[in-house]
Amino acid sequence: MTEQQLFKRFARERRNAAAYDAGDKSEEAQLFAVSLSSFQDHLAWTRSAINKQDMGATIIPGYIDLMTLNAFADYHGGTHYIGMHQALFVTILEFAYYCFAQRGFFPGIGNASLETSPEPIDDQAPGLWLLDQTVKGMRTIPHRANRILPNDPERSVAAVYLALLMVRFVWLHEMAHCMNGHVHYVQSKDLSQSLNEIASQEVLGLVKPVPARNIQKWDAALRCLEYDADQTAFWGSCQIQIGGNENIQGIAAMDITSRLELTVFGTYAMTWLFETYQNYFKVQYDSTHPQPVERLQSIFNYAARHITPQEPDFITLQKTALQQFNTIRQKIPAVFDMRKLEIKPLADEKLLANIRKALLSYRYDVNSTFRR
Ligand SMILES: [Zn+2]
Repeated sequence: MTEQQLFKRFARERRNAAAYDAGDKSEEAQLFAVSLSSFQDHLAWTRSAINKQDMGATIIPGYIDLMTLNAFADYHGGTHYIGMHQALFVTILEFAYYCFAQRGFFPGIGNASLETSPEPIDDQAPGLWLLDQTVKGMRTIPHRANRILPNDPERSVAAVYLALLMVRFVWLHEMAHCMNGHVHYVQSKDLSQSLNEIASQEVLGLVKPVPARNIQKWDAALRCLEYDADQTAFWGSCQIQIGGNENIQGIAAMDITSRLELTVFGTYAMTWLFETYQNYFKVQYDSTHPQPVERLQSIFNYAARHITPQEPDFITLQKTALQQFNTIRQKIPAVFDMRKLEIKPLADEKLLANIRKALLSYRYDVNSTFRR
């Protein structure tokens, strides 16, 4: 069976849905295909990694044909599967287009004076209207025709690159849930069958009921897995640029500072979006998830400790990237004020360190043979 066939079977059996085949020739479908094949290239290193039980890590990525917002990591029948729902990709693309339609957003890219800074279609976060519709039971939602696009063609292309960088962050985050041993950890501890970015109703159906006395403890553990996956994904996203491993030609042709600025903006934006979606369900189902500020904080601390020492210009370009949120906040006030981020320990710092120790027996590592 090919990987594509395996993913199709997995989608049917485990997610009760069809795999989305990016094979048709529409422009948008091509973007799905570009993102997936770029990520498959970046996955190559994982094939030589093993864990303490000498198990290899096979990770099969794919898209699920669902108009709900989600991404997940799972381990089923001896293989890791990671995926993203089609609607998440589309929402990311809409968000990136909207950002570049704002005149004040990365004004140095293209001819920003052509932009009219339109009001958002959602008055809150992009994608929340979609959550509303799916929660109300609508299963298929046509793409909105009145999508907001930048006027300047160069900014329109930059928006596509930003979207591809954000989607890459999602792929790397799900990959981290597998490689860092998270999926094995939650399955063996009976915390969850799979890791889902948004614990929606149907996904909660997959999770075993948690005894009330353990809920807080398990929530905290799951929160730490999110911090750990975010940090690995952020590291990977930056290394692809710093290490000269960008395999999407258009992005590779941009100067390194712009690429890193878009990467940093995309990482914080994606993390904030995930938190916003999760909190939407938190209100409905009363489950917990990291507070947006703590999850953004975890990335900010990580950058200071692990990326700045390697890339001296990082502090300046991160500042530039985070400043772009001010422009978006003028239109979508719910966006977190990134200027408030400063280096300080997480509330869960100690627990995170303990969980990382526990993960050592589950994680996959290229060099693990030499470490034992
Ligand atoms: Zn996650």
